[in-house]
Amino acid sequence: MSSTVSIRKTRGNEYEDIKEAVDRVIEDLGGLEDIIRPGNKVIIKPNMVAVPMSRLSGAVTRWEVCLAIYEAVKFAGGIPVIAESASVGADTGDVILMCGYNRLVEDGVPVVDLKSKDGQGGERCRLVIDDAKIAHEIITWELVRDADAVITVPVMKTHDQTEITLGMKNLKGLLADDSKKRFHRDGLIESVVDLNAALRPCLEIVDGTFAAEGIGPVFGDTREMDLIIGSKDIVACEAVTGKIMGYEPDEVPITAAAAARGLGTMDLAEIEIAGEKIEDVGSRFVRSCETKIEGVADSFRMVLDESACTGCRNTVVSVLMDMKEAGLLKYTEGLTVIAGRADDDMIDADDLIPEKTVCIGACAKKFADRYGLRWAEGCPPRNRIAIEAIVGGREKYDGE
Ligand code: SF4
Repeated sequence: MSSTVSIRKTRGNEYEDIKEAVDRVIEDLGGLEDIIRPGNKVIIKPNMVAVPMSRLSGAVTRWEVCLAIYEAVKFAGGIPVIAESASVGADTGDVILMCGYNRLVEDGVPVVDLKSKDGQGGERCRLVIDDAKIAHEIITWELVRDADAVITVPVMKTHDQTEITLGMKNLKGLLADDSKKRFHRDGLIESVVDLNAALRPCLEIVDGTFAAEGIGPVFGDTREMDLIIGSKDIVACEAVTGKIMGYEPDEVPITAAAAARGLGTMDLAEIEIAGEKIEDVGSRFVRSCETKIEGVADSFRMVLDESACTGCRNTVVSVLMDMKEAGLLKYTEGLTVIAGRADDDMIDADDLIPEKTVCIGACAKKFADRYGLRWAEGCPPRNRIAIEAIVGGREKYDGE
């Protein structure tokens, strides 16, 4: 496996500009012939985690990057399909539409909503992962099981749990929701590495045109970087992309864990860079932990452990955004929000004020029951339900 990473600047924002940069990256990496054989079934996996604020906000992979890869795979004789299942609770069809991928569908490009009942992804199936550390079994779809190759196409962005989220974590969108939840419950980092060890993506191409910093993975601030980055060594790709974003490779838990398991190298001295130099294009991204939503009280507290999956994490941030818009952030004064299964010792019963503590989602119901707290039902709950639980009743919030 070559540990070359290619970094190319885009010249503009039209499809031809993006395609030119993607093609140059693929050329720098020696083409696709060594990884895609004629007749191979190839999954192109974008990041379409949830409905973004806009398709170029840096939260989702833009369709232009996927289309350019699709064309390259076809040219190499492969049979490409773009496939995704959005985060727990998110409707993938809505996300596909909001991200503009419907225009590809209209042109005959297969864009598969894996969660849909239309059967394009085939039946759900179980895959056993030999030598897994944590995820010994996953639930996916026949389309994924039967693919000859997987190309992971993340967008460059920060993340509240994993510092940054790139191509390895992106593959979680090839799992059914039950498995996604399980990853969060059992240990996200090593589960993601297990998944990558099993699916062995042959190429990562990062959409670094519009990136996102701060509160990731959905509500970050957009940063225009005009970059396409790629490698056949996914660990090297993530080490270099992370470095461009201001992270040392060992600061990013998934990169470090994957390197430790031998999935690639994160040693920047061993990685050959083609195209732009890291120091010429890099700049420090604001980290998720450094960000705060304006107007949220300093006394607001979130109790989230690793088991709280993207569905509830996004819900909490999105709820705060909706409350800001509705002028309700005064209710965050002294508020504690609990999501996920949380270890019992993360919660001190003596600290809890029942009318100022809200449990979000099915996983946190046990705390609501045990301590008589407010509870927002759902997996994840709808924003309206969560806001009503926070403000203390429907009459105080009439939004949707
Ligand atoms: S309740 Fe929330 S944290 Fe629990 S599985 Fe559902 S979305 Fe994930």
